[in-house]
Amino acid sequence: MSITYKQLEEVAYELNRRAAIAVPLDAKQAFQQAAQRETQPDAKRALLAVLDNADVAVAQQSSMCGDTGLPRFYVKAGNNVELEGGFVSLERALRAATVQATKEVPLRSNRVHPLTRRNPGTNVGVMAPSVDYRFEPDGDWIDLTAVHKGGLFGSDYRMLFPGDGIPGLKRFFVDTLVAFGHRGLSCPPVIIGVGIGGAKDQCVTLGKEASCLRLVGDRHPDPLVAKLELELLELGNRTMIGIMGFKSDTPVLDVHCEIAYTHTGGLPIGISQLCHAVRRATARIYNDGRVEYREDPQWFTEYYRREGVSFEPGEPQPSTKGGEGMKGLAQIAQRSPTNGSPKTQSAIPNPKSAIPAGSAQKPATRPSKEWHLKVPLSEKDVRQLRAGDVVYLTGCIFTARDGVFKYMIDEGHEPPIDIRNQFNVTTQSSPAGAEVAPGKYMVNSLQATAGFRYAQWMDRLFERYGVRAVLNKGGMSQEMYQTVFKKHGVVCLSTMPYGIGAIYGKAVKGVRDVYWKDMLGMSEGMWLLDVEELGPLLVDGDSEGNSYVAQHADEVNAPLLEIYKELPELILKRFGEVSDPTEELIK
Ligand code: SF4
Repeated sequence: MSITYKQLEEVAYELNRRAAIAVPLDAKQAFQQAAQRETQPDAKRALLAVLDNADVAVAQQSSMCGDTGLPRFYVKAGNNVELEGGFVSLERALRAATVQATKEVPLRSNRVHPLTRRNPGTNVGVMAPSVDYRFEPDGDWIDLTAVHKGGLFGSDYRMLFPGDGIPGLKRFFVDTLVAFGHRGLSCPPVIIGVGIGGAKDQCVTLGKEASCLRLVGDRHPDPLVAKLELELLELGNRTMIGIMGFKSDTPVLDVHCEIAYTHTGGLPIGISQLCHAVRRATARIYNDGRVEYREDPQWFTEYYRREGVSFEPGEPQPSTKGGEGMKGLAQIAQRSPTNGSPKTQSAIPNPKSAIPAGSAQKPATRPSKEWHLKVPLSEKDVRQLRAGDVVYLTGCIFTARDGVFKYMIDEGHEPPIDIRNQFNVTTQSSPAGAEVAPGKYMVNSLQATAGFRYAQWMDRLFERYGVRAVLNKGGMSQEMYQTVFKKHGVVCLSTMPYGIGAIYGKAVKGVRDVYWKDMLGMSEGMWLLDVEELGPLLVDGDSEGNSYVAQHADEVNAPLLEIYKELPELILKRFGEVSDPTEELIK
């Protein structure tokens, strides 16, 4: 018997649906434990909201985050699997299932041409969805795993050297957390995959697979690698840069490392962060037609990690030769390249003086308040808000991202709506929504995106169109607040926390229209959304120029300054690199 095309397509569709909606059990339990032990009030509230969002997504069968990432598949084929039409037929089924899921779940149509930005609206295109294959001896089955991962923030690659060793690896690990943790662009708590060795592409691939395809709590079979995983987990949590960039006891849920033998002169490292929207679903299909939906993709097997030329089941995993070699590396890296004495100096010349004067404001004197406001907002509505307040919005708001800003502001196309008088709140979002009939739209999940990218358009947006509030993820820089936002009396609201698209999606009561979708595509078009009690939204920047993030900078920076005292500088610097962890990276 062979597995039919129809079955492959049906299972692949179901996997896309499950991945978008339901947090896998291992991750959900880890979130629950993190929420229970969290001692920081902001982080605790955010973690409870993440758990609440997971339940809402399942209850209303909507995507857990409004950004449904890039759908992709991991395929593990047993050596004896029989596929009707072979692997080419499988790929056709995976593509067809992705188109159907994009329309019906719906998934956000995220895939665009990288240069023209044309959006086919299906999440299918050149090289998309990507499909990765691995094989297993024997096995009359095929495992399909759907993963939806964004990938804009949190991942990085760096070529280190044997002289950097494990201390250098730790430095790069922390650098990556800090770079994307400022303002929480990576949406912690994260599961981190670290690919160590191989070549540049291989370590990046291994890091991604390790973050997406291993279960929380799983340890590498090589004791040395397992030990490194635990050390990195502890180090990551000592940074305390958690959800929304605020202090948290658990910014990292787990760390998974994978190794590959590498060039004798190098130590390439690929780091991949999987955000708290853990979107993964696996099924095993047997030749006789049985289907098992599984929690564990079991991606990393003895066979995949095999070390020698041939493979017999039970062959030792890379726990001896690789392990010993890395121990040696660690010792080498403890010595200074010049005089052989232990290298413990910080990369930061003088932490205190590195903090720009006045960058950390004093928290607002009055306690934060909760507001329920109607759109359009009046000037009084906006001026009474202070950084740290929480807002719920009811009324009609419009979406705008790169496409709308370029078209409307740079190219001068007048908006089809009266922004100043009727719709003076914009969200930097693209909903997970679909056109269900000509001119009729539905939204089931909504999340704002990182706002710092749109700074160049804000002054003109406020001046020309009278916008009074901008809603995004992570806010903008304090400098933007003190110049542009203050000048126009505008507030910046941030979703709280990020990635709870099911909760925000529930507040969307209707879609009035999607403008400019033919020019800009569904994702980048201007959506006009009726919302009811959309929130909670944090006032990140107020009309006086105060920044909530800047008010909390000192407490967030303190643990970092301690950690960096233990970490070496890396041998090969990057051009223009910033190595001050207190530096605000968002300009
Ligand atoms: S908004 Fe946050 S939670 Fe949602 S996909 Fe992006 S990084 Fe993940």
